[in-house]
Amino acid sequence: MDLRGNNHYLKIYNATNSKSITKRYVMKKSALKQIAMQRVKILIDRALYSRDEFSDHHIVIAKKIILKYKLKIPFEYKLLFCKQCKKFIIPGRDSIIRIGRSNTKALRITCKLCGHTYRKIIEKPNQT
Ligand SMILES: [Zn+2]
Repeated sequence: MDLRGNNHYLKIYNATNSKSITKRYVMKKSALKQIAMQRVKILIDRALYSRDEFSDHHIVIAKKIILKYKLKIPFEYKLLFCKQCKKFIIPGRDSIIRIGRSNTKALRITCKLCGHTYRKIIEKPNQT
């Protein structure tokens, strides 16, 4: 180890104003959110398509990331979480998705874990 070189560096550091050197490089919030969103998508996709013992853990991490960065999750991913018990539900296995028959076009999602049925409106009613 070359200690002399280190000492030399410290002398220079002390001589100059230390405040100007310690500049922090902070990433932009939008870039951070994009990276966080990518991670959430990867985690949820893994949990959806590879049904192994880790899928619950993936969802726990994904939820933590969503809360930390206050992400707006897209519609397709919102369907995967029950509105009442907040659990991860896989369509076809843990939930039943049907199209409502009323005028407002909506999906009726029934959670098999807690038995709660809720609606998700697909599109705004057109004014003719
Ligand atoms: Zn539920």
